[in-house]
Amino acid sequence: MLVTMDKILNKARQEGYGVIAPSTFSLELIGCAIEAAEKKRSPLILNINLKYDALQTEENREIFLYVARERAMRASVPVAINLDHGADYPTVVRAIHHGFTSVMLDASAKPFEENIAAVKEVVHTAHSIGIPVEAELGCVGMADPTFLIETKYTGSSKTDPALVAEYVERTGVDFLAVSIGNAHGPYAKNIVPHIDFDLLEQIAKITPIPLVLHGGSGTGDENLTKACQMGISKINVGTDLMKIATDQAIAGYEENANKGRLRFLTNYVDGYRDGIEYYMDVFGSTHKA
Ligand SMILES: [Zn+2]
Repeated sequence: MLVTMDKILNKARQEGYGVIAPSTFSLELIGCAIEAAEKKRSPLILNINLKYDALQTEENREIFLYVARERAMRASVPVAINLDHGADYPTVVRAIHHGFTSVMLDASAKPFEENIAAVKEVVHTAHSIGIPVEAELGCVGMADPTFLIETKYTGSSKTDPALVAEYVERTGVDFLAVSIGNAHGPYAKNIVPHIDFDLLEQIAKITPIPLVLHGGSGTGDENLTKACQMGISKINVGTDLMKIATDQAIAGYEENANKGRLRFLTNYVDGYRDGIEYYMDVFGSTHKA
């Protein structure tokens, strides 16, 4: 069933598990993510970024959201459709019009007061029509795989726990994305990031709202399970799923290419689904639908 994201995440925070928000960048992945959720009896968040190739025109956005909503409504488990990294007020309002059931306004690169002002404006509009809002305090940057040390991120700054209570209170935000040593994209080979669990513990004590971890890929299963138990309720995963899917697609291609069977996309989608199911177990959301 199609739901707003608060219906999924408030329960997750209370019960101490996390819900996967896979990067959903093609129409095929909508169905495969929902199939994974139904098999695992897990709630699901379709995480959709307007930067994806499939969403580059107004018409494509309408079609994409139409399919996502239709599939979500037919699902036997709760499914929310979240706008990932909404850039500004007009973008986010337009996304609500297209049918997202949750929106992120990312003003994390702005100074504190400007971040609050931008998020507050979106919250006011979104809440007036029942749509919850995710925002980010501190800044989750990009992992730089060319450096062989885990701390080399571009544009990262950790969430300052001293600002959390004021930020949540003044913005009225529903979910808080935190920067605790995580980063977007692939980490350097064989590097598992150092997640600052002391910082996570402090933030989780300050606010009862669901916390969000961007850049879940490559973070290590133990770290992720622990983070979910400590207050991370939504984990964005893209890179790892693409990697598993690509590996399976290439293997399938090599196996089938000379048999006249075109299995590349099927194998890609199968890999993506396998990755989502795997992480549902790691995050503890299996059987929580
Ligand atoms: Zn992100």
